[in-house]
Amino acid sequence: MLVVMQHGATPEQVRRVVLTIEELGYQARPMPGAQRTAVGLVGNDGRGDSSRLAALPGVKEIIHVTQPYKQVSREWKQETTRVRLPGGLVVGGDEVVIMAGPCSVESESQILTAARQVRAAGAAILRGGAYKPRSSPYTFQGLGAKGLELLSKAREETGLLVVTEAIDPEGVDLVAEYADIIQIGARNMQNFSLLKRAGRAGKPVLLKRGMAATITELLLSAEYLLAEGNQNVILCERGIRSFDPATRNVLDLTAVPVVQALSHLPIIADPSHGTGRRDKVMPMARAAIAAGADGIMVEVHPEPDRALSDGDQSLYPDQFADLIRQARLIAEAIGRRIAEPLPQPVEA
Ligand code: PEP
Ligand code: MN
Repeated sequence: MLVVMQHGATPEQVRRVVLTIEELGYQARPMPGAQRTAVGLVGNDGRGDSSRLAALPGVKEIIHVTQPYKQVSREWKQETTRVRLPGGLVVGGDEVVIMAGPCSVESESQILTAARQVRAAGAAILRGGAYKPRSSPYTFQGLGAKGLELLSKAREETGLLVVTEAIDPEGVDLVAEYADIIQIGARNMQNFSLLKRAGRAGKPVLLKRGMAATITELLLSAEYLLAEGNQNVILCERGIRSFDPATRNVLDLTAVPVVQALSHLPIIADPSHGTGRRDKVMPMARAAIAAGADGIMVEVHPEPDRALSDGDQSLYPDQFADLIRQARLIAEAIGRRIAEPLPQPVEA
């Protein structure tokens, strides 16, 4: 439920609304906005009784959020959320943000080379898993803490921000120390204890859609993060399972405009996991930007043939450079730009 205040309502009137909500046994979330000040009421699952609130001075109207998710909905907040990252990079604004790098961090030379290559091509954020959620326990599981250190080193050298995955609640704090964005992978989209922990980690979260998750389920998972007080959430469409083995997944780009209508959270697309095939990544990256995605996440490896995970879908660095050149044209055609990487740190 959302209590919308009249234009010019006094701070005292807003405070009274907050106190009344708390007296009713719920939590109040005041949201001062350019257009209107509203106070969100969280903790009520169904239609709460609003009569006491509606009668308070300064209250214009009560809006009942009709969706099962509340704080992530556009009913709750009309303006698209801009997730602000270090250095002034924004996801959810006019610029399309490119995140790129290998599936896994494999070694110092591999991740540093990849970072230099994707930065030279124009990516703003380096991706790479230090902890890998693998279908088989016998395949490469990631370098763990060492991988996080290597990502940090790559950030220091290149100025790229870092997105990397946390796979369990106990690991969130360590990942949060090193990452600029904590990734929650498709297999973990409904790992609710992980979501709660990530919601309290104090870092932006990239939440990937589960491979069999509906859009409502994706948004309810995002609600867990916002319910813990983390507004800095970026959604990611990464393909869903289908009956057709022609591609690894079906990249559901319809999710982009559908989510944008239902939620104020930014959404990016991952054409690498979405297709599973190197030659399909470029066209679907173009399509994602054309569809209005706020960014793309692309797997790029210095030597895809030697990759320890997802080599088949990883681009060669020169293909990625080509992708960015094309992405610039598509972005421009729809009135957007590709976000430039932050300036490279000057060597001491
Ligand atoms: C990844 O980004 O490398 C990854 C494991 O993705 P997903 O969770 O979408 O499968
Ligand atoms: Mn991968």
